[in-house]
Amino acid sequence: MNRKAYIENLVRPGIKNINAYSSARDEYNGSSKRMNFLDANENPFNNGVNRYPDPHQQKLKTEISKIKNTHVGNIFLGNGSDEVLDLLFRAFCTPGIDNCITLPPTYGMYGVLAALNDIENREVLLSNSFQPELSRLLNLVDERSKMLFICSPNNPTGNSINNEYIEELLKEFKGLVVIDEAYIDFSDNESWLDRLAEYPNLVIVQTFSKAYGMAGIRLGVCFADSEIIKILNKIKPPYNINELTQQHALNRLKNLEKIKSEIEFIKRERFRLSMKLLESRCVKQIYQSDANFLLIEVDNADKRYQQLINSGIVVRNRSNLPLCKNTLRITVGTTLENDRLISIFNNF
Ligand SMILES: *Cc1c(COP(=O)(O)O)cnc(C)c1O
Repeated sequence: MNRKAYIENLVRPGIKNINAYSSARDEYNGSSKRMNFLDANENPFNNGVNRYPDPHQQKLKTEISKIKNTHVGNIFLGNGSDEVLDLLFRAFCTPGIDNCITLPPTYGMYGVLAALNDIENREVLLSNSFQPELSRLLNLVDERSKMLFICSPNNPTGNSINNEYIEELLKEFKGLVVIDEAYIDFSDNESWLDRLAEYPNLVIVQTFSKAYGMAGIRLGVCFADSEIIKILNKIKPPYNINELTQQHALNRLKNLEKIKSEIEFIKRERFRLSMKLLESRCVKQIYQSDANFLLIEVDNADKRYQQLINSGIVVRNRSNLPLCKNTLRITVGTTLENDRLISIFNNF
């Protein structure tokens, strides 16, 4: 089966026949400033945002394609990666019939979106070293398993999933293998982006919320085979990325050096923070992290969480997740914030 047929075969039958909504800017998208745009019922008085945004985000995608060394046709942008993940469910999983596979402890949104879309979520617990157990995983897969979510580096554990496991899953799992690389820029490992041509079922999700420092503008990215991107484009809300978001992202991407130096700072602080926190007598273990946070095991997570709150520091108590008893997830902050955290831990 060729790539196109393979992907068409995965798409929900009902989605295949939908005709995309055709917006005013789809029907005429010339950008000449001299044209009078009387086609979209906009307010004609210029205030910077009186016009609808580019529904296909051409400028922004072109910039991203240069930075990521990929093709515009392999890029889809969402209102946060949460929208990307939701659209993947809607495009590929038939409610009440299909299922997806997730690997807890991991990002909670996969399960929430599965439930929201009435898709059975088959959970396969990671091993004690937070790696997938392939035989247990593949035993749960059937012909209705349409998506497998691999978060790497994983939230909340911080570790990367071994490439050999991912490679094997890309070969064995016939549905989409969605690799959530929200934290990839904090890792020394390569992104899977360079491997898109090898696997038609490989979908990579990234975000501008973490390393790129733009959580507030809500911008997520999906890289995949152009057939998958076409389907996402067909079913997305027409103007899902607003004008302010597109402009802000373009501006910030002009200064990649700044973003890179922030990432390097965070990686150095991650190391310093873990060394210092290990000296605290309430810290039992600090898990190795390829992300911008540390998962630490403490003597009593509920108690330490409350004490931190009382000292003005909010961390995430992850103790109720499987394999995460008595753990806190701590985001790497500024030097000052990290110093305050360290001194509080020293006083415990
Ligand atoms: C933070 C995070 C995201 C980002 O979500 P956005 O909607 O893009 O802000 C995605 N996946 C994981 C695993 C995350 O931790």
